[in-house]
Amino acid sequence: MFYELNKCEKNPLRADIRFASVYPNVYKTAMSSLGYQIIYGLVNEREDSYCERVVYPSVRSLETNSPLRDFDIISFTIQYEQDYFNVLEILRKAEIPLRRKDRTGNDPLIIAGGPCATANPLPLSDFIDVFVIGEAEVVLNDFLDLYLDLKNNGRFNMNDLSPFLDIESLYISEFKNKAKIAVLEDMNDAYQLTRPIITQTDDEGLMPVFSNSIFLNVSRACTRGCRFCMSSYLYRPQREVNADLLVDTALKISENTGLKKINLIGAAVSDYSHIDYLIETLREKGFVVSTPSMRIESITKDILVSLRKSGLKTLTIAPESIESIRKKINKDIPDEKIFEVVKDAVELGFNIKLYFIIGLSSSSDEDIVELRDFIKIIDSMKYDIDSNSKSSSRKAKVSIKFSVNPLIPKPHTPMQWNAYDMKDIKSKIRYLKKNLKGVDIKFDSAKMGLIQYVLSCGDRDIGELLEKSLTRKISMKEWKENAPNYSLGDELPWDLIDVSVSKEFLISEHEKMETKDQTPWCEEFGCYDCGACH
Ligand code: SF4
Repeated sequence: MFYELNKCEKNPLRADIRFASVYPNVYKTAMSSLGYQIIYGLVNEREDSYCERVVYPSVRSLETNSPLRDFDIISFTIQYEQDYFNVLEILRKAEIPLRRKDRTGNDPLIIAGGPCATANPLPLSDFIDVFVIGEAEVVLNDFLDLYLDLKNNGRFNMNDLSPFLDIESLYISEFKNKAKIAVLEDMNDAYQLTRPIITQTDDEGLMPVFSNSIFLNVSRACTRGCRFCMSSYLYRPQREVNADLLVDTALKISENTGLKKINLIGAAVSDYSHIDYLIETLREKGFVVSTPSMRIESITKDILVSLRKSGLKTLTIAPESIESIRKKINKDIPDEKIFEVVKDAVELGFNIKLYFIIGLSSSSDEDIVELRDFIKIIDSMKYDIDSNSKSSSRKAKVSIKFSVNPLIPKPHTPMQWNAYDMKDIKSKIRYLKKNLKGVDIKFDSAKMGLIQYVLSCGDRDIGELLEKSLTRKISMKEWKENAPNYSLGDELPWDLIDVSVSKEFLISEHEKMETKDQTPWCEEFGCYDCGACH
């Protein structure tokens, strides 16, 4: 059984613009993406356009089964660097020339957006005609208006995309132009998905991650300033939607879908300034509220109680590392606070998932031993706190799972000048695997981390490697040879993309990693002039 509620049905022959919104990963991931659903809603609100979805590995639309070649515009939403391979595979399967220089006026216009395309479009720049830099709501309608105007006046020319340079948040590979990120100023104007597509299926493989729940976008960006976190630097400043507007939106969505389960979405939902009021009000209106994104510092027992009462079963938090490394990455949370949150969550019956990163180049052998001990302490907290029994037959009250991932330096962050040391990461994973037997712990592969690093921080040349990957496996040796190694003062491939945060600020944050100096949260301690608000 497979059925989609709220799918948009229009006559494609009547549309001036046939727009294929392509997600280069499987259906389950595509339909779990708020950004992907926003594009669908935004474009379909236009009378002149019909947006249909194409989801990897298919090259036909879900709405009318049309082949990709039939569309005027093909738009890729790129949220993960690993999806670059699928972008190329889709183009090839759809019989669209891979390289933009080989395309003609008979081919669709290929555009791309999303955090990866925004941060560093260079690795894909030989394959994509136009990159949308920043938040789609701000740019997409202007782009489509201009496209239509050019087309209607016979001025649209695939070989001359210069008219699109008038929109400052578009990056066009052939012009190597400077592009400025588009960020919505007032979140109360953000597109709220009042008619989301809801998937009904008995096939687990197709079921979106937050199946049968309403996405409520409460805020965007987090300015806490963790020095490794790309989204913390891309979409500044922090912006929030009014709480009553969110409640009204939730009621509208519920009317349109019959759903009563809500997922609060935002960079750091527990930082939302009226979080208690919002959860309580939604709960009073009969909603079950959960959220995948909580900052440890702002989790209080009251928030946990509210979330538990409204049905949340699993708490996900990211301590990242031991306290001294947290200081280096500007996530200065004392161990005691983490223990307190875990203890409260265990008492309330939450299962807990914790995320860690390894591979900060300056971390020592002692640090990894300390990390092992830290994980062991947290793991032991799943047993009944009051129980004095130390026997191995103790029963865990809840489940505690750990996920350890290689730290990948990302563009536009203070860590963009750091290297990726695969050997060091591999040895740390080996050590933790050996010394954390019996702990429910998963590791992301160090090799995949290297590939991701090359794709995130690489230059235009990476395009060749991507193209070769269509016909043969790229060896680890080749990935290593293509891993960049930037120094302060180097020109960076993504310098053309202005995300508003100044380079001077990033350099000073980079230097502070050594001294462990903290940069306090601007929302609470005042502006430190990163550049985003001017
Ligand atoms: S300019 Fe100031 S207030 Fe704005 S995001 Fe940067 S530090 Fe925060």
